[in-house]
Amino acid sequence: RPRAELEQVESVCPYCGVGCALTYNVDRERGAISFAEGRDQPGSQGRLCVKGRYGWDYAASPQRLTVPLIRREESYPKGALSADVRGEGNGKRRKDDRPGKDRGRKPGGLVDYDEVLPHFREATWDEALDLVARRLSGIHADGGPGAIAGFGSAKCSNEEAYLFQKLLRTRFRTNNIDHCTRLCHASSVAALFEGIGSGAVSTTYGDVVNADVVIITGSNPTANHPVASSFFKQARRKGTKIIYIDPRASTVSEHADVFCQLKPGTDVAFYNGVMHEVIRLGLFDREFIANRTSNYDELARTVADYPPERAAQITGVPAEQITEVAKLWGGAGAGIIYWGMGISQHTTGTDNARCLIAMCAITGNVGKPGSGLHPLRGQNNVQGASDVGLIPMFYPDYQKADDPGVRERFEQAWGVTGLDPDRGLTVTEIIGSILAGGVRGMYMLGENPFLSDPNINKVRKALSTLDFLVVQDIFLTETAEFADVILPATSYLEKDGSYTNTDRRVQRGRKVLDPPGQARADWEIVQDLAQRLGLDWHYAHPGEVFDEMVAVMPSYANLSYDNLGLSGKLYPNDDPEHSDGTVVMFDESFNTDDGLAHLVPAEWLPAKELPDAEFPLVLNTGRLLEHWHTGSMTRRSYALDAISPEAEVYMHPKDAADRGLTHGEIVRARSRRGEIELKLRVSHREALGNCFIAFHFREAAANLLTIDEIDPTGKIPEFKFCAVQVEAI
Ligand code: SF4
Repeated sequence: RPRAELEQVESVCPYCGVGCALTYNVDRERGAISFAEGRDQPGSQGRLCVKGRYGWDYAASPQRLTVPLIRREESYPKGALSADVRGEGNGKRRKDDRPGKDRGRKPGGLVDYDEVLPHFREATWDEALDLVARRLSGIHADGGPGAIAGFGSAKCSNEEAYLFQKLLRTRFRTNNIDHCTRLCHASSVAALFEGIGSGAVSTTYGDVVNADVVIITGSNPTANHPVASSFFKQARRKGTKIIYIDPRASTVSEHADVFCQLKPGTDVAFYNGVMHEVIRLGLFDREFIANRTSNYDELARTVADYPPERAAQITGVPAEQITEVAKLWGGAGAGIIYWGMGISQHTTGTDNARCLIAMCAITGNVGKPGSGLHPLRGQNNVQGASDVGLIPMFYPDYQKADDPGVRERFEQAWGVTGLDPDRGLTVTEIIGSILAGGVRGMYMLGENPFLSDPNINKVRKALSTLDFLVVQDIFLTETAEFADVILPATSYLEKDGSYTNTDRRVQRGRKVLDPPGQARADWEIVQDLAQRLGLDWHYAHPGEVFDEMVAVMPSYANLSYDNLGLSGKLYPNDDPEHSDGTVVMFDESFNTDDGLAHLVPAEWLPAKELPDAEFPLVLNTGRLLEHWHTGSMTRRSYALDAISPEAEVYMHPKDAADRGLTHGEIVRARSRRGEIELKLRVSHREALGNCFIAFHFREAAANLLTIDEIDPTGKIPEFKFCAVQVEAI
């Protein structure tokens, strides 16, 4: 059909934190999307990557959940299911797993519906929600607030995330509420909050055009933030210098002026070495340090112990290159640090981010155009979900949950008394609490911890132990196999709502398609359940929820659902009618109590599980360009699945040759926690002694191998470092 006969609906991409603006061209006669195209907006300027352009046909999958499901009495105990998440697929898909080849009952290659669905029976919404309300109320009455927990999702809109945390906090009086930020940038947020009083970015990725130099570290933006990466590469062509620091080479390293391929888990030693040289060479900003920071002397004392020779010994980066980075960074007029989960997903993740904050602060690189701190947020709404309070230590807008004054304000705003006075448990702590008999009832909205969390054999045990689990999702996920009740939700294509990207841009997603069967929007389900639990909620539209959010979130002041327009707005924003919002923050002071940036020195500590004779390789896990998290959406998108259909372990040619392994053969990867079988990809981009596996694939689940040690402050797992062996089968 020609474009003129299609209806155009403006929305945002549901995948990475870039949150590109796009237009869906909808064929109303077929009730289907014909194609997607990029839309002009300051953040994405009409660009899209392969996921935004092609990753939407999952919404029409015959595997969508369309009716509430209740586990059959005879299907207890629950642990018997999900047995095939153990890597026995030899890295190959079942014949009938291929979307497009068989658009029948089980095209997705994920959960075997024929095996799992018989354990559930269909139910009405009334029956399912009454059961959820009764069971969660019963567990709460019996075990108190500590017996209940909720995982929300960064896939949901701001309004849905807000209502979900409000339900858990006001009805069950618990702060045990978290989402995938815990697996993503929790350590970055902890360090930023401590250092500059704000968990959000200090400048946008588009501000790269004003930078003389940028450091991109612990990130492969070409795969994980592709459109942001295109801005970086464009700026490079116009003269911005790129320093790329990562254990893995990538297309970004090929565009970089300096590429430091450091050993995994040595970031603190590297940045301490660079700061040592910045100070030794007098490249620091005396005035900025004197007027805008505290604790510089202690930082200087700490980094004095990291001369480049020592840093080189720890990191494997030549001492001269460390000095070269110091000269480039310290000599620049303006510089930005962009970082990804290679920084945050370590047991030293908070220390790693503390070093980046100090790198910017001692060189005066915050608060002016082309300078600042930017953790590249993973999911399109992980910033927003965190902003609106879907985290256990903060109410909306990062207001401390254990501050009596804050609690009193929220009790007034929400018309309740007795909110939980303590910080709640995080995603990673909740799994431990279940096993210790603490948390017994859970509400899981859009999360799939059975593939996304570390050491999933432990997660399997925990989920099997729960007294009651309700899973709300669009597909039967691996986690849903453990559910007592499954509630069918709408995808982002079938509802309205707002989403906040990595730049602090709040944008509106618009309903494109009708929901399948009886599926309902998450906010409607949460509200229905809240009413059955005795709460007097009557929101008619996400816009009304947005108004309430703005009233309790000073950072979102002046924004309204309507004034977001087609391009969205950055927050903070004094005049949304006439301004796009604030690009560069902290030009005069930071959000800390004294307005200063607090410099927190860090000593280098080794990773928790080092390679040895039995497990000699370091495993790094992450994502691929074509797929998204646990694959429930992208593996059901025909084009994406066709490009990247199977799991692979990436390995340096010499490591492969030493083991007698050849490119393309099926190998076994094993750690102390489990083993998987998958295809070998020999790649010069991997450093000797390291390997990489993406965590999207159920049939070769990388998180069977990973370690569940966590950062003591950010509580984030060490997804980027554990010891493994890869061998012939
Ligand atoms: Fe979507 Fe990110 Fe790709 Fe943009 S860069 S189209 S937001 S996945």
